[in-house]
Amino acid sequence: MSEQLVFQPSAAAIARTRTTKAQYDEMYARSLSDPNGFWAEQAKRLDWVKFPSKIKNTSFAYPDISIKWFEDGILNVSYNCLDRHLATRGDQTAIVWEGDSPGTDSKVSYRELHDRVCRFANVLKANGVKKGDRVTIYMPMIIDTAVAMLACSRIGAVHSVIFGGFSPDSIAGRVSDCGSSIILTADEGRRGGKTVPLKKNVDDALAKVGGVERVIVVKVTGNPINMVEGRDVWYQDEVAKVNADCPPEPMSAEDPLFILYTSGSTGKPKGVLHTTGGYLLWGSLTHELSFDYRDGEVFWCTADVGWVTGHTYIVYGPLANGATTLMFEGIPSYPDASRFWQVVEKHKVNVFHTAPTAIRALMGAGAEFADKYDMPTLRLLGTVGEPINPEAWRWYHEHVGKGRCEIVDAWWQTETGGHMIAPFPGAIATKPGSATVPFFGVQPVVLSPEGVVQDETKAEGVLAIKDSWPGQMRSVYGDHKRFVETYFTQYKGYYFTGDGCRRDEDGYYWITGRVDDVLNVSGHRLGTAEVESALVSHPKVSEAAVVGYPHDVKGQGIYCYVTLMAGEASDDALKAELKTWVRKEIGPIATPDLIQWAPGLPKTRSGKIMRRILRKVAENDFGSLGDTSTLADPAVVNDLIENRQNR
Ligand code: ATP
Ligand code: MG
Repeated sequence: MSEQLVFQPSAAAIARTRTTKAQYDEMYARSLSDPNGFWAEQAKRLDWVKFPSKIKNTSFAYPDISIKWFEDGILNVSYNCLDRHLATRGDQTAIVWEGDSPGTDSKVSYRELHDRVCRFANVLKANGVKKGDRVTIYMPMIIDTAVAMLACSRIGAVHSVIFGGFSPDSIAGRVSDCGSSIILTADEGRRGGKTVPLKKNVDDALAKVGGVERVIVVKVTGNPINMVEGRDVWYQDEVAKVNADCPPEPMSAEDPLFILYTSGSTGKPKGVLHTTGGYLLWGSLTHELSFDYRDGEVFWCTADVGWVTGHTYIVYGPLANGATTLMFEGIPSYPDASRFWQVVEKHKVNVFHTAPTAIRALMGAGAEFADKYDMPTLRLLGTVGEPINPEAWRWYHEHVGKGRCEIVDAWWQTETGGHMIAPFPGAIATKPGSATVPFFGVQPVVLSPEGVVQDETKAEGVLAIKDSWPGQMRSVYGDHKRFVETYFTQYKGYYFTGDGCRRDEDGYYWITGRVDDVLNVSGHRLGTAEVESALVSHPKVSEAAVVGYPHDVKGQGIYCYVTLMAGEASDDALKAELKTWVRKEIGPIATPDLIQWAPGLPKTRSGKIMRRILRKVAENDFGSLGDTSTLADPAVVNDLIENRQNR
């Protein structure tokens, strides 16, 4: 099976890496044996107003969970991302912006970005924002959004970015949860050739929630919108009234930096709270080492800034490192499925980072879109967000990476702040579908579902983390009890990730899916990811989602939702073929019981499959689907219900 496939680092990657396998091993060991010494040294990569004397002060002892890193240190995030680079790289491009419509783009240097951030910060101050206030940001993928985030960090305000695809209800819930009295938005956004009515959504949200006194609107499309007298102001008018003089606010390392709601795959989103020092250190160190990023390279992470991936790997990590980061307003399929590759060639991208959902969609559209582009500047490819099916991994490697680019599959979560398990390029051999080995300071533990530590290298169970790392979330905003309950109660003494995993004989980690999604077929535990990967490896299948449903004989039956490649006929013969296929790939135990053709799958707005909804449909219990507010396209659910197989 796929597990046998091993890709050794290329000669080029080995020649350039600054962390060889031996160095990785040595540093990893030291990060565990001497965390205070190790992290004090790493903390030097940031500029501090006061360098911390206390490094690690954390406890996972139930129920008194407390996490503090660098607690007496003082620094400012925007200073680290901007001011400190001005002397050496003021004229270097900080952000390359590529618009939704091909042919629209712009660039901003570190000096210009610094100037814009200071002005935006002064606009916030002039509108009453003070240190510690929560600022909601509901904006499109434009440079001003990064400017707004950095402006908050400059004055010590706590941002809560809401992805621009969310509905008024989702905005209202998040605004009231964090008690924010100001919203930054735009008249409209642009995505895939269409406009998104951002300001209208904010108006609708504010009809449902009180407490918002100020809405600052950036003019993007210029189409007419409603402005509420006394509440709403134009950013362009406000910025004309301020200057660019805004000294950075000295912040304690443990002062909150931002709140970000998880994507809602498993239920109601949680307001994840990250703080200043540990988060920035984690973001900048992982960005540099996991991607082996070097000065002058163009780094493109295709996530939306509304997700943690966008926070850490579009804004904070790259800018803290003085990198050139690319921000893309559009979508991979507009105007056609070659857009990503056009942009890679146009802006000479060196490192490209996307999600399995995008890779599978582009694979489904046909390899010819990628094959047309040589992309000679590409050196490394990243993937994050879901387990990547080995088939999609190989497609990415061959058609995008042309067989020459390293692939970094990074496992992490909104809660972890940055990468946790990922291969160091040039040091760690990769295996398609495995995120490989832990980052410095990360101690993964495989527990049996009952909580027994699995000591053997080869093990299977749930994934927990044994001790704190600097990028860890500190709490659920306003609800520390929920933090303790969600992450520390089920397996006492550990941070519980909610993911299932397997560790192979080489100590590599394979995420098998959410723990709630693991199947139990006739007493055998099967990860949804494994069955899905087997299905996706069939040439006619572009995407698959697998869930269990009650089965009289086996306990759980295997129910598969399958999306076919463009143009493939969906008939019973193909169903039979797929059943045989999976049986052959994994074994008789994994033979699908029911297959449903799914033209679309229910996904969160960040593109993750929401299996809990599919489980309800498979169980023939679709009356109560739970929280569906984070669904990207609610219409697909109706089609799935109508064509359900288990009646
Ligand atoms: P919620 O917590 O609200 O259900 P979510 O878990 O989807 O939402 P995120 O923090 O965006 O919110 O996603 C983290 C999860 O994504 C991980 O727990 C894991 O299940 C999955 N994931 C991320 N990266 C990888 C990866 N490289 N391989 C496998 N799974 C991954
Ligand atoms: Mg989660």
